[in-house]
Amino acid sequence: MLVDYHIHGMGHLDFPHTLESLAQFLSAARARGIKEVGFAEHDHYLPHINFENFALLRERFPDMVIRCGLEVEYLPGREKETEERLRGIEFDYLIGSVHYIGEWLFDHPDYIAGFEEWDLRELYRVYFGLVAEMAQSGSFDIVGHFDLIKIFGHRPPGPVLELARAALEAVKEGGMVLEVNTAGWHRPAQELYPAPELLKEAFRLGIPVTLSSDAHSPEQVGRDLERARELLLNIGYRQIAAFSRRERIFMPL
Ligand code: ZN
Ligand code: FE
Ligand code: FE
Repeated sequence: MLVDYHIHGMGHLDFPHTLESLAQFLSAARARGIKEVGFAEHDHYLPHINFENFALLRERFPDMVIRCGLEVEYLPGREKETEERLRGIEFDYLIGSVHYIGEWLFDHPDYIAGFEEWDLRELYRVYFGLVAEMAQSGSFDIVGHFDLIKIFGHRPPGPVLELARAALEAVKEGGMVLEVNTAGWHRPAQELYPAPELLKEAFRLGIPVTLSSDAHSPEQVGRDLERARELLLNIGYRQIAAFSRRERIFMPL
């Protein structure tokens, strides 16, 4: 079964958080045979979310399961602050993502020059160190785009698995789910997040997975999820994780 758990219904504020606009994303999912979807806006757009829309959407799309998630920036040392901001809102799941190394927003094309200042092995070590910390924080349910640091195609010499292994082990210990995010296929990296060799190790460690497109517009909903599913089946996965009110539910893949 296909789910799409990482949909930005507002894009980067390109779309309003209205019933009409969000319905476009759900119609796109339905047309692609995806029966369970989760909106996961960037947490800095939290004030723009109208949570009443979720109940209304569920009425309008009774054949679909619609989850309310959030993609949360992992900011080391600021976990309390983040918790405080999210207090009192009932989410089905939280995606923890690392987009910053210090002050550097490394996944933004405007700041790509920042890569020149690093030894790539060191950069990957630091990045995966942050992912490991995020996994150990216990604040989140799903690891967002596990190896996002490769986004623009900067690859360190040698096997990435060696640099990523400790982070994978932290994900396992933290009881988190890895999202298999197809957006990587459409970035200069031209590779799924996480890379297949990392997914194989995740499977070996017994880390559960879920599926996501990281759509920022209706056309991108469900993109390449069937292809990702095939890959997961080949690796050996037979189940997929879903969430309801921060509780994990397993479904056949
Ligand atoms: Zn985004
Ligand atoms: Fe992200
Ligand atoms: Fe995202």
